[in-house]
Amino acid sequence: MTTIKTTCRLCGDIELHPKDLRLELDPMKDAGNYRFTCPACDHIQRRPANARVVSVLLATGVAYDVLPTDPITEDEIAAFAAALRDEEDLVRLLAT
Ligand SMILES: [Zn+2]
Repeated sequence: MTTIKTTCRLCGDIELHPKDLRLELDPMKDAGNYRFTCPACDHIQRRPANARVVSVLLATGVAYDVLPTDPITEDEIAAFAAALRDEEDLVRLLAT
């Protein structure tokens, strides 16, 4: 079985199996976090996972959750409406 080495804040180096971890993925990015319960001290911990770590963990069969994205804010809608109003070339606006 695949062994994943990581570090517990309290216990130091520990070894986990894919079923011990869960990825939390941001749908807007190729990175996220992984969450695990330390087998030695039972503390739940969360670590950042860059794109490389995410792909390695997915390849070993780690389960994942896709985190909900923040809804669009009123400010973003207002900024987009203003950009539409001020932009003469809408094709160029869409390209940015
Ligand atoms: Zn621990």
